[in-house]
Amino acid sequence: MFYFSRLLVLAILRINSGKPKPALVFFNIDREPIFKMSEKKTALVVSAHAADFVWRAGGAIALHQAKGYEVTVACLSYGERGESAKLWKKGGYSLEQVKKARRVEAENAAKALDVHDIKFFDLGDYPLEMDREAKFRLVDLIRKVQPNFMMSHSQYDPYNTDHSYATAVTMECRMIAQAWGHNPGEKVLSAPQLYLFEPHQTEQMGWKPDVFLDISEVWEKKRAAIECMQGQEHLWNFYTNVAQNRGNHFRRNSGGMSGGRPAQYAEGFQSIYPRTVDELT
Ligand SMILES: [Zn+2]
Repeated sequence: MFYFSRLLVLAILRINSGKPKPALVFFNIDREPIFKMSEKKTALVVSAHAADFVWRAGGAIALHQAKGYEVTVACLSYGERGESAKLWKKGGYSLEQVKKARRVEAENAAKALDVHDIKFFDLGDYPLEMDREAKFRLVDLIRKVQPNFMMSHSQYDPYNTDHSYATAVTMECRMIAQAWGHNPGEKVLSAPQLYLFEPHQTEQMGWKPDVFLDISEVWEKKRAAIECMQGQEHLWNFYTNVAQNRGNHFRRNSGGMSGGRPAQYAEGFQSIYPRTVDELT
C-alpha cells in the first residue's frame, strides 16, 4: 500500500455548477486538488466603475478573447455619481436611472469586446467602499474564474481614489483567494500576474509601464466599445490618441528602426509581481 501513496488520482470533472466547464483535475492521495487543466485560459478585469475597463483594457480583453481566453469583467460600481456628468447635466435623471444607463452602456461595450462575462457588484461610487462581505464576493469570483492573469487600476490616483482603492482591494482579495484557510475545500488561487492598466493623466499617477501589448488587430472592436460610452464622448479621441502613442512605444521597444513590429495601436501595463522564467530573452 505504501507505493500507492505516491500515486496521483486523475479525475475528469465538470466544475462551476452554474456554467459547467470540462476540466482535468489531478488529486493527491488525500483527494486534494493539486493541478487543473482547464479547456480555456481565463482572465479577470476589476473595474472600479462601469466604463473604466473599456478605455484602459478594452484591447487586451478583445485580443485575449480572440486568442481563446474567457475574460470576465467585474464592475465594482456603475460610476453613477462620479463618472456620469453628462447625464446629470441633462437633468431629470434619478440615481437609479443613471445606474441603469451606465449598465446598458457597459453591457454594450462588453459585447463589442466579446467579453465572456460581466459582473456588476453595484457597491456605489464616490466613494467606492467595500466591507468584508463585499470583499468575500470578489474573492468568490476570483476563485470561480481562476484567472491566468488579472487587471486593475494604477496603485496611486490622487484625482480618483476609487481607482486606487479598487486596486488595493483587488490585491487584498487575490491574497485571500490564495489562503488555504479561507473556505477550506475550495480550490485556492495560484499566483496570477496583476497588470495595472493606464490611468488618466498618466504622469501624475506614479504609473510606469513595463509591458506593451499590440492591439492593432482588435482596434476596431475597442473603438466600437469606446463609442458605446455615450456619457463620455469627450474621451473617445483622447483614448484613440493614447492607443496610437502606445503603438509608437511598442514599435520602438520591439526593435524600432532595426526591425520593430509595425504596431499601430497598443496598450501599456505595469505588472506588480515578478515573473518566473527559465531563460532570459
Ligand atoms: Zn473610473
